[in-house]
Amino acid sequence: ATPTLAVVGRPNVGKSTLVNRLLGRREAVVQDVPGVTRDRVVYDALWNGRRFKLMDTGGWEPDAAGLQAFVAQQAETAMRMADAVLLVVDASVGATATDQAVARVLRRADVPVMLAATKVDDDRLTSDTAELWRLGLGEPHPVSGLHGRGSGDLLDAVLEVL
Ligand code: GDP
Ligand code: MG
Repeated sequence: ATPTLAVVGRPNVGKSTLVNRLLGRREAVVQDVPGVTRDRVVYDALWNGRRFKLMDTGGWEPDAAGLQAFVAQQAETAMRMADAVLLVVDASVGATATDQAVARVLRRADVPVMLAATKVDDDRLTSDTAELWRLGLGEPHPVSGLHGRGSGDLLDAVLEVL
């Protein structure tokens, strides 16, 4: 079967924008209104002649109190359903308490887990991504979903584990 990469993370970190970029086409639902992506949407993707599936996650944004449980639940589901998981963190914000809680969940995963630091639109933020090593998910891959910076390197790394 075609392997699936699930993309998880807090609402508004840039998951759907990154999924669009990795797909090379504008299809995943992206809006300035957070939480617009339906619960889980799966797309067919192709990189270097290899087919895989990209699962975007979202759903309705819960209130602030429920956010941590909501994102942790998305991560649990992704770990069960996918062959690898990509945690997306907003590099312009850094790792929040919620990001740390999700990383803690994902460190127990039986499938490979990768870390993308998105919104790295220029060199200014590249140095800050080093701080994300402390999430314990290995190397943070800097990327800009908006401009495409780093997306090829991220896809190469993803296909090594998928
Ligand atoms: P999601 O809720 O995690 O799927 O986040 P979205 O992909 O919907 O993006 C949320 C907001 O962040 C939107 O306003 C995007 O335009 C913006 N955004 C996403 N990726 C980038 C990026 O690489 N750079 C910048 N500057 N903004 C981004
Ligand atoms: Mg989304």
